[in-house]
Amino acid sequence: MLGTPLKKAGIVKIPLLSLAAVFCASPYQGVLAQDPPPASAPASTPAPASSKPLALAPAPNNHVSLQRAAMGGEFLISASVIPQMVAATSTALAGKIVRFEVFHDGVDMYESSEGLVVTKDLPTRRLLTTFPIVSQDEARVVIDFNAGMRRVFNDIWYATSETTGSVPLRNPVAQARSLEIPQGRIFEVRPEGNQLVVRQSAQVRDRQNDPNKEERFEIRYFMSVYEPGDFQTKEHTPAISRYVRFFESHPQIENNTGRTASRIALFDIRKPVVIHYSANTPAEYEGAVRDGILYWNRAFGREVVQAAKAPEGVTAPDSRFSLVQWVPWDNAGFAYADVIVDPRSGASQRGQAFMTSTFSFTGKSRARALLRTMRSVPPVAPSPGPAPGGPKKFGEETGAAAQSVLFANARACEVDAVAFVESFATGLEGALADPAFSDAAAKRVAGDYVREVVAHEVGHVLGLRHNFAASLSSTLSQKELSDWFTAYLKDDDTALYADRVPCTSVMDYMDLKSSALVGRKIRKTAEVLAYDSAAIRWGYLASNDVAEKRMLFGTDQDTRTYGDVVPFDYGSEPLVGAYASIGEDLKNLPNSLIEQFIAAKAPRDPKDKRPLDQLSLEPERAATRIAEAYGRLLSWFKAGQRSLRVERNFPFVGPLNQREVYQAHFKALNEQIDKLGGVDRAAFSFLPIDLKLEMKGEPAGVEVIPKIDAKQLIGRLEKLLESPDYTQFTGLDEQPASFSKEDKDLILRRGRMYFVEFEKEVLKRLCQKLEKAPRDLAVQAFEEVAEDDVVARLEKRIIDVAREIVLARNEDRRHKGKVDKSFVEVAEFRYELETRLTAARMLADGAGSFRSWATEPRADLGKQLKETVDASLNLQNFREFKESQLSRPLRDWYLNQQNVLGALGGKPVFVLPPPAPAKPPVH
Ligand SMILES: [Zn+2]
Repeated sequence: MLGTPLKKAGIVKIPLLSLAAVFCASPYQGVLAQDPPPASAPASTPAPASSKPLALAPAPNNHVSLQRAAMGGEFLISASVIPQMVAATSTALAGKIVRFEVFHDGVDMYESSEGLVVTKDLPTRRLLTTFPIVSQDEARVVIDFNAGMRRVFNDIWYATSETTGSVPLRNPVAQARSLEIPQGRIFEVRPEGNQLVVRQSAQVRDRQNDPNKEERFEIRYFMSVYEPGDFQTKEHTPAISRYVRFFESHPQIENNTGRTASRIALFDIRKPVVIHYSANTPAEYEGAVRDGILYWNRAFGREVVQAAKAPEGVTAPDSRFSLVQWVPWDNAGFAYADVIVDPRSGASQRGQAFMTSTFSFTGKSRARALLRTMRSVPPVAPSPGPAPGGPKKFGEETGAAAQSVLFANARACEVDAVAFVESFATGLEGALADPAFSDAAAKRVAGDYVREVVAHEVGHVLGLRHNFAASLSSTLSQKELSDWFTAYLKDDDTALYADRVPCTSVMDYMDLKSSALVGRKIRKTAEVLAYDSAAIRWGYLASNDVAEKRMLFGTDQDTRTYGDVVPFDYGSEPLVGAYASIGEDLKNLPNSLIEQFIAAKAPRDPKDKRPLDQLSLEPERAATRIAEAYGRLLSWFKAGQRSLRVERNFPFVGPLNQREVYQAHFKALNEQIDKLGGVDRAAFSFLPIDLKLEMKGEPAGVEVIPKIDAKQLIGRLEKLLESPDYTQFTGLDEQPASFSKEDKDLILRRGRMYFVEFEKEVLKRLCQKLEKAPRDLAVQAFEEVAEDDVVARLEKRIIDVAREIVLARNEDRRHKGKVDKSFVEVAEFRYELETRLTAARMLADGAGSFRSWATEPRADLGKQLKETVDASLNLQNFREFKESQLSRPLRDWYLNQQNVLGALGGKPVFVLPPPAPAKPPVH
C-alpha cells in the first residue's frame, strides 16, 4: 500500500541498488550495523486508521514525500534525541504543530501560531525551515528532509509554571532556542501506524556553551497529521500546586487576554493505557517490571494501566508504544523517563522509561561488585555545563553527565548521580554488613527494588512529578526501618511493621531499605501509598483529597527552598535524619574498608586485580560525608533554613507572619533535639575529643552514635576480619575467596593508619561546620537572646570544644631547640594546626547568636595559650624576646602558636597551605 502513491508519482524507479550504495558509503555504517532491524509490524500494533494515500510517506534515498492535498493542513512533529555513546537512551523534545507550504524553490515548514499569538486578526508566519525540493508532480512533492533539518529545536518536552532555574518558565517567548547540526544524514524513513518515523544521524553543536564540542546523536522524528481529539487536559491552579504537580506542556497564549496557560500531561484514560516492557527484560525481572507498571491501577482504583511485553526488536523511543526499556548497563546508576505530549491539548501520546540493570543485582557478589563501582565514582558532582576554560574532569565525561550537556534537565528523572551513588552505596554497604544478607535475600531485595523504581518511572510517564517531601510523612523511625530490613532479609513473610510506611509516594527518591519495603508492599499486598493515590486521583479523576488532606508535597525546584525536601533523605524529622545518617556511615566504616580490599583481591574481571598493597585508602571521603550530614544537622539552628513540614501549617509565609513561622521552626528544632536526648547528645557526643557532657538519655527511634574513636574502629575491623563473613567470602567474580595471613596483616596495618587519619580528618571537618553554623533562629523568633535555650547550650559546648582543641597537648611529641643559647624542649599540641585554627575561629564575633557571645571565653583562651607558650619557652626570663632568638624547630612551633593566637584575636592568619596530598590515579 505504501508504494502505491510513489508509483503514481513516477519516481519509484530509482533502483534499490543505489539506496544500498548510499548505505554502504555511509560514514554511519557502524551505527547502522548496530541498529536493530526495523520491527516488523507486531500483532498488537494499533492499525493505521485510514486507507487514504498517506500525507507523509517515505521516498527513495531516504527522502520524504508530502501529499500536495495535505499542504496547509496541520501536522504534529515530535522528536527524541538519542546520544550515540555509552547508552543510546532517548530524551524527548517539545512537540510542534506545523504546516507545509510549497514555493518555487522549496517547501517551507511553519509552526502553527495558535497559542503563540493573542489574536488571529493579525497574520503571522513562523518559519521553522525550508526543505529543498527533490522532485514533484501534481500529487506529491518529495523533499530533502535532511537538508532542511540542520538544526534541532532544543526545547525539552515539558515546562513548568513555577520559577526555577532549570526548566523553562511559563514564557512562550523563551521557546526559540536551537542547536546547530553541521553534519547530518537521514538513514531511515519508515511509516509506522499513522506516523512517519525519520531517523537522522547528527552531529550537534552548541554555539553558546562549548562551540568546539560536537556531540553525536540520533534524532528520531515522529510526524503525523495533527488530529485534535476531544480530550483536553487541565491546568494547575495556584490553590492546588502546593499539593500536587504534573508535568506541563509548553505554555500557550490565550486569545485576546494574552494570559498564558500550560496544560498538564495526562493520558486519555477512556481507553486503557498500555505500557509495554522491552523484550530484552531478563525473565527473572519481568514479574517485577509488570508489578511496577500495574501498581498504578491501585491509585486509579480500577484497571486503567495494562502491562504487555513488547515485540522483539522494538526499542524505545517507539512511535507506537509506551515502553519501559530495559538497558543492560550495570553501573549506570539511574533510570529515567520522558513523555511525548500534544503541545496543544496536553494529551500524553506515549512515554518511555529507561530502566538500567544497575538495580538488578542477582546475588551477594553482584551487590558487592556494584558497591565497588559505585564507590569508584568521583565524589565531585558533575557540573551542569562545560567547565570554563579547560578540559573536563573525569567525572564530567562519564555516564549521564556526558550525554546531558546539550539537553540538560530534559529528563523527568535525572537523578543527581552523586547523591544517588552515595545513597545506594550506603544501602548496599549496610546490606552487605548484615549477616542475614544471603544470596536469596539479595535477589529478593533486587526484585523489590526494581518494582519500586519501575513504579516511580511509570509514575512520571503518567505525568507525576517528584515528591521529595513524601518521606516527611513516614511512619517508621530510622531504627524501625533498619529492624524491618533485617527481619525481611531473614524472612520474606515477616509481619513486622506491616502497617507502616517509609514515605507516602513512590515519586520520592528512596534509600535502599525504603525501596525494598515499598517494592515488597507492591509484590505482596494490594496497598497503594496514600500520596500516589491522591495525586493520580486529582489529575485523572477530579478528586481533591490531596489538597483537603493537605498532603506534603515538594518537587525538584522545592529542594532549593526547603531543607527538608531532599532526595534520598529519610524520616519525618530532618535533624533526626541527619543524626541517623552520621551513625549509619560510621557503623559501616570498617566493613566498607574490607570491601575495598575484596574488590582489589577478587574483582569481577581478573584483569582488574590489583596487589592489595597498591590500594590507596582515602579517609577524607568518609569524613566529608559525615561532615555534610553534620552541616545539615546544624543548619536547623539557622533562621534562613526552611522546613516544608513546618511551613505547610501556614496558609502563607511572608513578612506579616515571619516571626510566628520562626517560632514554629524553633519549636520543631526543640522537639527534635529532645527526641535525640539533648544538644550534647545530638551534636557533640560523637566528636573525637574529651568533653564533659550531660547526656539526658537515649535518643528515640534512632541508634546512638558512639564517640568516634580510631581504637574502637580498629577493634571492630580486627573482629570483622575474623568473622565468618570475611574469612571465607564470595568475590565479585562469584568465586570463593579468602584473605591470606599476609593479606590480613596488611589490611590491619593499613586499617590502623586509615582510622587514625580518619579521626583527625573528621574532627577537622566537623569543626569547620561548627565554625560556619549560624544560629540566629531563636533571636529572630523571639527578638531577644535567651539565658538558657538550645542555642545557649550549643554555644556553651562550642566554647568547650574550642578550648579543648586549642589547648590540648601531646606530651609524647616534643620539639627540641634553642632559645638564644639555652636548650629547650616543648611538647606539641595534640590537634593539627588547621583544626586548631578552625577551633579558634569558631569563637569569632560574627559566628554566634549575638555579637559578644564568646568575647570573654575567647580572650581567656588567648591568655591561657599565650601563657602556655611563654612558659614552654621560658620566655618570662627574657627582658626583650625576639622571634629570631629561636632555633628553626622552635621558631616554626612558635609561629604556629602566634597564628592560633592571631585567629583568637580575629586577626588574619598566615599559614603555608599544607602540601596537597598526591592524588592517586582514578581507577
Ligand atoms: Zn524520577
